[in-house]
Amino acid sequence: SRLANQIAAGEVVERPASVLKELLENALDAGARQITVDVEQGGIKLVKVRDDGGGIGPDDLPLALSRHATSKIQSQEDLEAIGTLGFRGEALAAISSVSRLTLASNDGDQPQGWQVTVEGRDMAPSVAPAAHPRGTTVTMRDLFFNTPARRRFLRTEKTEFNHLEEVFRRVALSEFQTGFRLTHNQKVIHQLPAGDDATLRAARVARLCGRAFMEQALEVDIEHGGLRLHGWMGLPTFSRAQADLQYFYVNGRVIRDKVVSHAVRQAYSDVLYHGRHPAYVLFFEVDPALVDVNVHPTKHEVRFREQRQVHDFLFRTLHRAIAEVRP
Ligand code: ADP
Ligand code: MG
Repeated sequence: SRLANQIAAGEVVERPASVLKELLENALDAGARQITVDVEQGGIKLVKVRDDGGGIGPDDLPLALSRHATSKIQSQEDLEAIGTLGFRGEALAAISSVSRLTLASNDGDQPQGWQVTVEGRDMAPSVAPAAHPRGTTVTMRDLFFNTPARRRFLRTEKTEFNHLEEVFRRVALSEFQTGFRLTHNQKVIHQLPAGDDATLRAARVARLCGRAFMEQALEVDIEHGGLRLHGWMGLPTFSRAQADLQYFYVNGRVIRDKVVSHAVRQAYSDVLYHGRHPAYVLFFEVDPALVDVNVHPTKHEVRFREQRQVHDFLFRTLHRAIAEVRP
């Protein structure tokens, strides 16, 4: 129902950035190789995400907007081996209950596509033909237009855009095989070509995290006992007053985890002074069977089966790298 959707929306949809996060995860789930994001007024007026992924057929379009209809979790095994990013089956329903949402898609079976539009109402959406190449475009307008109390919690356009760009950055760092583009009020903010080779990876990180970070960062790539850590760690001299440049990915999913942050803090502890935070962009690869990702669907938490092993591997790898370059 509309109410249930709005309650769910309270959990999922806090601001334009949370909408973008869900739409980007869906696009990646669909196997997109190119994702274009257009935003207006910090995302309050418009968040539009276009992808070239697998698309949605006309019969499934209305279902995609109904709550829980699509949850990919069907069994305990699914829970344990979640490969795709979305698994709650309610983001689009929640977003559509608090905005004007159009979903246009083409699953590639027919030359033309189809679209559905809903405007925060509890009505069966009708499906109409639409010109659309293979892939999906989700257009969200006027966030919280029907929930003014929530709308008042939104901050300035600039602040909302900063949150949104942060989401874009986190996601764009998670999938180098996919090209990304972000515009704000028709101005191109980021244009990131697809490609997983070293040059393109480094260029993307530099673009998203700044040249200053990359120029001083140490590149690491260590594999041991089925665990691999690669990416860039900022040197102590580049430590920050805020923990605003800390990206840690486990099998492509950005996470916050006590074991990880403890290992990182310990590795840097000899060289960081109080109140400073190390900067890093790190990718950790581990057998998916050894990580639970369903601890909390929105908070990016994980639980490692072998916490000790993970902690020690991270600590040793980072500590060794720092020890080699410390003044
Ligand atoms: P979830 O991602 O948790 O399944 P969502 O509400 O985010 O739930 O999406 C509902 C469903 O709509 C997805 O499971 C998927 O089948 C479909 N869908 C949403 N976005 C896309 C997209 N960009 N491309 C293809 N299918 C999509
Ligand atoms: Mg989703």
